Amino acid sequence: MATRLDGRQLANELEQRLQGVIATHLAEAGRPPGLAVLRVGDDPASGVYVTHKEKACSRIGITNHGAHLASTTPQAEVLAQIERLNADPAVDGILVQLPLPAGLDEGPLLAAIDPAKDADGLHALNLGHLLKGEPGPRSCTPAGVMALLARHGVELAGKRAVVVGRSILVGQPMALMLQAANATVTVAHSRTQDLASITRQADVLVVAAGKPLMLGAEHVKAGAVVVDVGIHRTESGLCGDVRFAEVEPIASAISPVPGGVGPMTVTLLLVNTVASWWSRTGGAASAHPLRDLLP
Ligand code: NDP
Repeated sequence: MATRLDGRQLANELEQRLQGVIATHLAEAGRPPGLAVLRVGDDPASGVYVTHKEKACSRIGITNHGAHLASTTPQAEVLAQIERLNADPAVDGILVQLPLPAGLDEGPLLAAIDPAKDADGLHALNLGHLLKGEPGPRSCTPAGVMALLARHGVELAGKRAVVVGRSILVGQPMALMLQAANATVTVAHSRTQDLASITRQADVLVVAAGKPLMLGAEHVKAGAVVVDVGIHRTESGLCGDVRFAEVEPIASAISPVPGGVGPMTVTLLLVNTVASWWSRTGGAASAHPLRDLLP
C-alpha cells in the first residue's frame, strides 16, 4: 500500500512551526506579520479560498490587512490600493485573488506588487530569483509539493522527475525546483506525444494538467512517487488529475485529493509572509528560520 502524502497533517505541523518563529521574533520585530488578501468582485470560489487563507492567518497570528472591493472598481483604484499596501510598513505580504472580474487587466496589477511583499511568489522578479537559485518568495503550490516530498523523505538527487503541465502557476516553477534539487526533469504538456511512455519513466511524477482523472495505472511506473496537483469539483465530489484508486496500488507514495497539495498551497502563502516579515523586521539573513521551505 502506497504511503499517503498527507498535506493536511504537514500543514498543521508547519503552522505550529510558523507560530514558533513568530513568537521567537515578535519582540525584536515590534509587530506581528501582516498579509493583505485583495479580493475584487464576488466570484464564489474565490470567496471560499479567501476565507481559508484568512482563517489560516488568524490561527497562526498573522494580521489580516485584506480588502474586498466591488466588481465595478476601476483598474486605477485597484492599482492605488496595491500601491497603498506596498507603502504600508505593517504589510509583509500582498496577494491579489484571481480570477479578477472582466474589465480588469491582471498583468499590470500583479506586476505592481512590491516583489518583497509577493506572497504568491509569482512576480516576474521572484520567478527570476527561482531560475537563478537566489533566495526570495517562492510559488506556493510547487514549494508546497517540495515540502511534502521532503517531509516524506523522497530522495530527488539523480532521480527522474516528470512534470505534466507547464503553467507559470505550477508546472514551470515545479520543474525548476525539482531541477534545483538535482532531479533530471522532463516537462510534458498538451502537445506531448505518447505521454504514457514519458510518465512511465518517472521516479517522481507531478501531475498539474488540470484535466480530471486524466492519468491512470498505464501512466505510472511501479514504485513511483505520484503528486496530484489537480483539483476538480464534480457531481460526486472533489477529484484530481489522477485516478487515485488505480494508481495507489502501483505507487510507493501518492498525494490524495483533497488533503494533499491543496492545504500546502495555503501554508506556503503563510511561509512567504512570515519569511518576508522576518527579513523586513531585522531578522538576520544568515539565521533565516524558513529557508528550507523556500527551495
Ligand atoms: P493550466 O490550465 O494553466 O495548465 C495546465 C497545463 O497542463 C498546461 O501546460 C497544459 O499544456 C497541460 N495539459 C493540458 N492537457 C494536457 C494533456 N492532455 N496532456 C499533457 N499536458 C496537458 O492549469 P494550472 O497549472 O493553473 O493548474 C493545473 C491544475 O492544478 C488545475 O486542476 C488547478 O485547479 C490545480 N491547482 C491546484 C492547486 C492546489 O493548491 N491544489 C493550486 C493551483 C492549481 P499546454 O501548455 O500545452 O496548454
